[in-house]
Amino acid sequence: MTARFANAAFALLKRSQIPPFPIYFELFYTYATGANTDLNAEINAILPQGPLSIETASALCERFLKISDIEDKLRAMSQMMSQKISDVNQAIDIAMESADSYSGSLQQASGDLEAGIDEDALKMLSSRLLQETRRMQDMNRRLEAELENSKHDISLLQRDLDEVRKESMLDPLTKIPNRKRFDEQFATELERMESSNASLSLLVFDIDHFKAFNDTYGHLTGDQVLRLVAQVLKANLKGRDMPARFGGEEFIAILPETSLDGAISVAESIRRSVQAKELLKRSTNEKLGRITLSVGAAQWREGDTVASLIERADKCLYAAKRAGRNRVMSERDVPGAATASDVPSDLKPPLLPEPWPIRPNRQV
Ligand code: GH3
Ligand code: MG
Ligand code: MG
Repeated sequence: MTARFANAAFALLKRSQIPPFPIYFELFYTYATGANTDLNAEINAILPQGPLSIETASALCERFLKISDIEDKLRAMSQMMSQKISDVNQAIDIAMESADSYSGSLQQASGDLEAGIDEDALKMLSSRLLQETRRMQDMNRRLEAELENSKHDISLLQRDLDEVRKESMLDPLTKIPNRKRFDEQFATELERMESSNASLSLLVFDIDHFKAFNDTYGHLTGDQVLRLVAQVLKANLKGRDMPARFGGEEFIAILPETSLDGAISVAESIRRSVQAKELLKRSTNEKLGRITLSVGAAQWREGDTVASLIERADKCLYAAKRAGRNRVMSERDVPGAATASDVPSDLKPPLLPEPWPIRPNRQV
């Protein structure tokens, strides 16, 4: 049975001309077993359109296989670390026992010598001491090797730990900072701001009508769009500015030492840059139209907290949605600041706005 699944997985890899890396094999093996109905439904919907591209396979791996389960990785590393520590402790215990016994032998020898011994006994004593010393030297060498070995393993574990730590701060889909990283950076920037008195602004972004985009073109294509938006954010935010995926199709950016006007102008560039990209489906060259962003902008005020600043920017974002989407609104435009619940549910302009002047195509 297992061989049958493996053969089917290889056949699918071959058909799609995807390299038989373990992760892609696992994807198709899981498909062949039918164990994950969502994965099978997704692949069944894609296969009739032609062979799977490597990008699609990677996106499927990310979504359906728990390849970046940080908790699992940390658990495995912590087990390895405990094992290493216990190996080292054991080696030290053995070495200490030997050292004790060696010191016992030396003491006894010194007692014998003080008491005075004849030539034969002296010969025996020196040969015994020589033997004990060699045993001790041998033990020291083994301990040294064991410690050297552990040092190497521990430095590898340290490197893995650093990688996992970095990974735990990134959003797995878009590879930009996640919420956790954002919170940390925000705290650092607030501390800096307290000592420097500089300004700080915040932008929140939400893709317009993204549900409809997913419904029309599929979740995987939607994921590619999220990656594209993340790239645009990264390209437009420099220095200590930091974008992050806030959740779903919402992004956030912290702009230290930036006034509200500065933040609005950055937000405008980002909004324009996203709107300018005509989306093309890579596998079929199908035109997918364009997507747009709504953005809310707010600046840190005396007495603000992280939550109150985000809330103000969020209110501006919802005001931008209410005002027709694909726009930036700041707290200056929204003095009373509308709340999320004020957004009428029927406020749904046509899916994907009419094309803007064509710029270089962007494949997704
Ligand atoms: P609005 O203009 O009011 O923001 O409309 P919307 O459709 O974007 O907003 P809504 O909150 O109704 O839907 C958000 C959608 O974002 C729902 C879901 O389909 C999509 N979404 C959230 N997270 C992901 C994701 O990780 N990948 C993909 N492809 N879609 C996502
Ligand atoms: Mg949303
Ligand atoms: Mg949205």
